[in-house]
Amino acid sequence: MSKAAFVTDAINLKSYSLSESDKIIVMYSRDKGLIKGVAKGVKKPKSKLGARMDLLVANRLMLYEGRNLNTISQAEAINTFNRTRQDMDKIFYSMYVSEVVNNFGVEDDPCSSAIFDLLYETLSTISNSASKVEILNTVLKFQLKMMRLSGFSLELDKCLCCHKPIEGENMYFSSQIGGVICKTCNEKHGIKTLMHYKLRNFLSVLANTEFDEKSDYEKKSSEKVCLVCFEILKSYINMHSAKKFKSTGILQEVS
Ligand SMILES: [Zn+2]
Repeated sequence: MSKAAFVTDAINLKSYSLSESDKIIVMYSRDKGLIKGVAKGVKKPKSKLGARMDLLVANRLMLYEGRNLNTISQAEAINTFNRTRQDMDKIFYSMYVSEVVNNFGVEDDPCSSAIFDLLYETLSTISNSASKVEILNTVLKFQLKMMRLSGFSLELDKCLCCHKPIEGENMYFSSQIGGVICKTCNEKHGIKTLMHYKLRNFLSVLANTEFDEKSDYEKKSSEKVCLVCFEILKSYINMHSAKKFKSTGILQEVS
């Protein structure tokens, strides 16, 4: 029986050793969501797949479908996000966004093209960033957009309980329910994380800004404010992820 072949664009997220010469690559593909493929002979010095199977590389692939695993037959690099490879911050945050996609991505996802494009744009914008603040703003946009695509949108514009729009008011933020609650409603809930209205406005604007646009908020944002937002969103994402995160342990695999 001949195996079915298919072509798709995919970004390498993770890899495992399969044997002395082969690896399994976990990828996010534009057409089929999360996929795994065997890269045969990739550990040999003269492998035809070679560096295209490294982490954080986007390829156009030809794969053969197998019963449990696909086999990668051809790969043509679309983007190696080259400027990421010499910069520890860029590597760290690129690995982080890849891990989020690995943890929330599913096989045969109907949203696969939107998630693929989001990941691709994020990695490419990180790679071309000129400062840490630029990297962080990109990651924040990714976090907000990825949660929206995964069905975990954050409510930042009105109180989750009474639905009153709250503009110039500080309010409480809950990772559990995914958004903000006004002071009056919080008397019943007793949430302790107070969120300054400026932080909330910043996140709300970022959620609706494209990667090639820069809002005034972004231009004025500091590394400190971005890091506070990153931690808030990271803990929200962790809480809703079925798989455990381990970003920092995989740093050495890229460089
Ligand atoms: Zn309320």
